[in-house]
Amino acid sequence: MVVLKTIVLLFAIQILSYITCEKMPSVIIIGAGPAGIAAATRLFKNNITNIKVLEAENRIGGRIYSLKFGDAFVDLGAEWYHGGEDNPIYHVIKELDLIEVQDTIRTYYHSSGKDINKDLVAELRNIFFSIYYASNIKTDKDVSIGQYVKEKYLKAIDERYRNASEKLEFAKEFLDVLKKDVELFQGAFSWNEPSAESDYIETSPSILYHWKNRGYKAVLDVLLQKYPDPEKELPIEILLNKEVKQIFWNNEVSVKCTDGSEYKADHIILTVPLGVLKDRYAQLFNPELPQEKQNAINELGISAVQKIFFHFPKQWWPNNNFHSIDFFWTEEDRVRFLKEKKDKSWLLGFTGLYPTPYNPNVLQTWFCGENVPKIELLPDEEIINGLMLMLNRFVGKYFENITTPDSLLRFNWYEQSHFRGTYSYQTVKSRQRNISGQIALSKPMQAENGKMALLFAGEATNPTHYRTVHGAMETGFREADRIINFIKNK
Ligand SMILES: Cc1cc2nc3c(=O)[nH]c(=O)nc-3n(C[C@H](O)[C@H](O)[C@H](O)COP(=O)(O)OP(=O)(O)OC[C@H]3O[C@@H](n4cnc5c(N)ncnc54)[C@H](O)[C@@H]3O)c2cc1C
Repeated sequence: MVVLKTIVLLFAIQILSYITCEKMPSVIIIGAGPAGIAAATRLFKNNITNIKVLEAENRIGGRIYSLKFGDAFVDLGAEWYHGGEDNPIYHVIKELDLIEVQDTIRTYYHSSGKDINKDLVAELRNIFFSIYYASNIKTDKDVSIGQYVKEKYLKAIDERYRNASEKLEFAKEFLDVLKKDVELFQGAFSWNEPSAESDYIETSPSILYHWKNRGYKAVLDVLLQKYPDPEKELPIEILLNKEVKQIFWNNEVSVKCTDGSEYKADHIILTVPLGVLKDRYAQLFNPELPQEKQNAINELGISAVQKIFFHFPKQWWPNNNFHSIDFFWTEEDRVRFLKEKKDKSWLLGFTGLYPTPYNPNVLQTWFCGENVPKIELLPDEEIINGLMLMLNRFVGKYFENITTPDSLLRFNWYEQSHFRGTYSYQTVKSRQRNISGQIALSKPMQAENGKMALLFAGEATNPTHYRTVHGAMETGFREADRIINFIKNK
């Protein structure tokens, strides 16, 4: 029924355009992540319906990847909606009861088995957040976020705990935990890669929401009008398994795919991730991109974190509220561990375990740091052995009956050629230019005949909300509007 309706609607639109003697402008959108889907739906709702979305993977969503695991959908990619009425997602979902606040309480466990002073940890986290989230970090252009946080934090704890040597010692060691948090927030292999100053702006208020048991893909279902009424799905043509290998953007605007197919259009919106551009920009474009864009691609940063979901045959952790199990290594224990278990050094990037809403038997973990590419290639069995080693060491004495997971789920964002990373950041080098990398990357390319030929969307083209889903959606809407206005003003 939906297919029949779609064909009738497309046919009617074509007939109408013939009757009015107007040639319907055609648009190719490369990539069916949130930027691509946002662009397609905005164009479609503005009567530009001659659209083809070409997606290299066998699914839509891009770095939104929700899969059923355990009792609910889990998100291998984006998981949290950042809230705020200035967030485009708010306007898409505000009438629908799809989200709820997620507030996990971070609970730390010591590598030596000692109990941890929770009040002190809370104080240290407050000191860290007041430094990390200071809205207007102003420093030298060549200072990384790592250098900045470290210097300010060490100064703050010295002032506060100068006369309490035990607390001061603990606070110094706690810096390793905070370093991991920075690497996770930034998605960087090292906290010395992203710059301290940045153009990133939090939504206001910034509150993390979870998509209940549906996963983040719910937002794409709403955009495409599959939800709440599947009968109303927008009939947008999305072609899967279409990897674009070349883009021609002067005079004749067209693309070639790796399966040999070719498509022509009036306009192309490119939404592939920054990691893909880094790998392929030299071969992808004909003519090649101007130097300013090449610099932006080379100098903006994208590395990766790895998220893994573990399913346990039975819950062994308390389920009264949302407590994490975070691992805290002392310097001494870390050095000894590295000596004794050299081949397991990757376990030092294991941040902790976090409950997953609506999924009573599932815990998730995040790995960060330079070992992520190596961890992505480890067999599942080795990951599970590593997890058990960590659990026995850190929480064996607190929880009885810890069981081994019966399965795990993950996606290798860095290894996978259509992504090559998780989310982008501004590096020290990119901040040294007088135009931001995101702005340089977002500029559209006009063909010699004046046509708005090639437009750029995707999270890494958002000047202030990069690294997020809402940022990606904003850029999809932005580029669709650019085409709509170009056509209107012709
Ligand atoms: C592990 C992880 C956790 C995250 N957590 C959050 C979070 O909690 N909240 C949040 O807001 N954001 C989060 N993000 C970031 C968010 O997912 C991204 O910013 C957002 O999805 C980017 O959207 P996009 O449309 O720009 O790119 P993508 O979603 O990557 O879409 C680009 C599409 O292009 C396709 N493609 C690539 N190459 C080609 C080609 N040659 N031809 C055709 N198609 C191609 C890809 O397959 C992909 O589908 C997370 C990301 C990851 C990976």
